[in-house]
Amino acid sequence: MYDVAAAGVGDTGVTYSAFSGWAERPTEFAPMLEGETTCDIAVVGGGYAGMAAALRLAERGADVVLLESGFCGWGGSSRNAGYLSNALAGDPQLLNTLYARRLPGLIRYADRAAHFTESLIGRLGIECEYEPTGNVIAAVSPSQLRHTKRNAAILRGAGADVEFVEGRDFGLPTTFLGGVFERAGGLLNPGKFALGLRDALLASGVRTYERTAVRAVEPHAAGAVVSVTGGRVRAERVVLATNAYSRDLAISPRRMVTPIWTSLVETEPIAPERLATTGWTRRVGIVTPHTILENYRPTPRGTIMFGTRRLRTAPGALGAREPDDTVVADLVRGFHERFPSLGDVAPRRAWGGWIAMTSSLLPVAGEATKNVYYAIGCNGHGLAQSPYLGTLLADRLAGDRTHEDLAAVWRARPRFAPSVLSAPTLHAAWTIDRLTDRFHRRRP
Ligand SMILES: Cc1cc2nc3c(=O)[nH]c(=O)nc-3n(C[C@H](O)[C@H](O)[C@H](O)COP(=O)(O)OP(=O)(O)OC[C@H]3O[C@@H](n4cnc5c(N)ncnc54)[C@H](O)[C@@H]3O)c2cc1C
Repeated sequence: MYDVAAAGVGDTGVTYSAFSGWAERPTEFAPMLEGETTCDIAVVGGGYAGMAAALRLAERGADVVLLESGFCGWGGSSRNAGYLSNALAGDPQLLNTLYARRLPGLIRYADRAAHFTESLIGRLGIECEYEPTGNVIAAVSPSQLRHTKRNAAILRGAGADVEFVEGRDFGLPTTFLGGVFERAGGLLNPGKFALGLRDALLASGVRTYERTAVRAVEPHAAGAVVSVTGGRVRAERVVLATNAYSRDLAISPRRMVTPIWTSLVETEPIAPERLATTGWTRRVGIVTPHTILENYRPTPRGTIMFGTRRLRTAPGALGAREPDDTVVADLVRGFHERFPSLGDVAPRRAWGGWIAMTSSLLPVAGEATKNVYYAIGCNGHGLAQSPYLGTLLADRLAGDRTHEDLAAVWRARPRFAPSVLSAPTLHAAWTIDRLTDRFHRRRP
């Protein structure tokens, strides 16, 4: 059961949370499933993907059951950094090398995902502090700047709505030299977005069960049986929207996702005039093009939130957890390097979550086995993409022809290559990033 103590205090003097710093847990839950029920479509997992899929299926007249092991929004959906972005995961030069032919379709998919999710927020009237600022992949060294310039050209060539910008002219903090401005999307409070979707779900015709972990999904000729502790659902079709947790379900295609733990830290409030002294005059989310990215964003509560740099793997089952001290200390060091004039600004809170990485770095959707579908794996970019992917899959299950954006990520067969992500490779990537940072500090 996920209901562990919400917070502890680590050695760094930061309050750690095993949930999210963006929102409180709900105080009331949907019922647990007990006994047996039937439905047209059972959705497993109540994150953005599962909730959006269930809502769309119900809108289209299906009888839908959604099963969530914690509460809807418990996973990455409430915890993320809040960048609503039209970017794909992965370096554009790498993507262009691996998927030159597919790239324009993938870019169109990611761009439409950002616009779709933006309009979903409006359509459902979710108050989630959304600011349509766009986001910047910003360089912190001359070589990164050259790299981002090339990336901007590749992305534009493939049809992306981006432009290369100079840091100072654009209003980035002075340590950020410039980079790729993604015009679509912006920044929001993901906890409020996820719990707003949950409110819409609970008010809809979807039969939602929380604190109901799915133990097994067994397909048969006319549908599938979904087993939970104390009950089961007979469904014609099943959607797996279990993201990083997919690995724990035997029905999931082997090697489909590698769960990776990602951490975030938030500072104490900073006076606006002090923030202005950093040169950060344009309110925009920043991500760096390191091998493992760093992200920095302002929040509506006057703080700066930052994250990633060091990632952790999951040797065992995924449970609730807090970030560890080493990771938080490293993130704080990075923050002080990028914002030298804010050296006295203290970190206050830290939390993290599991993301699902796929070996292709691309989102994936398809049929795991007869009557069991998946829409998963947004590689740390699911805020915009997961609701869109869930909705596109729902439309297909409701009888529509496969949308061209769903086709862009659809897997004909549920076969996945082994992942290169492991504790040693992630540590090596972090070490390379720190060595290149040090090299550029010596030779500005
Ligand atoms: C720290 C962090 C920062 C991030 N920052 C960003 C960002 O700025 N922008 C961005 O686009 N993306 C970001 N992401 C990624 C983004 O949060 C995810 O891609 C997105 O939330 C995925 O949504 P989802 O619905 O697929 O999965 P989740 O939100 O993980 O939902 C999966 C749900 O399935 C449930 N579940 C799993 N197994 C079972 C089971 N057996 N039975 C029942 N229920 C089950 C889980 O409890 C969970 O609620 C970040 C993620 C993290 C963790």
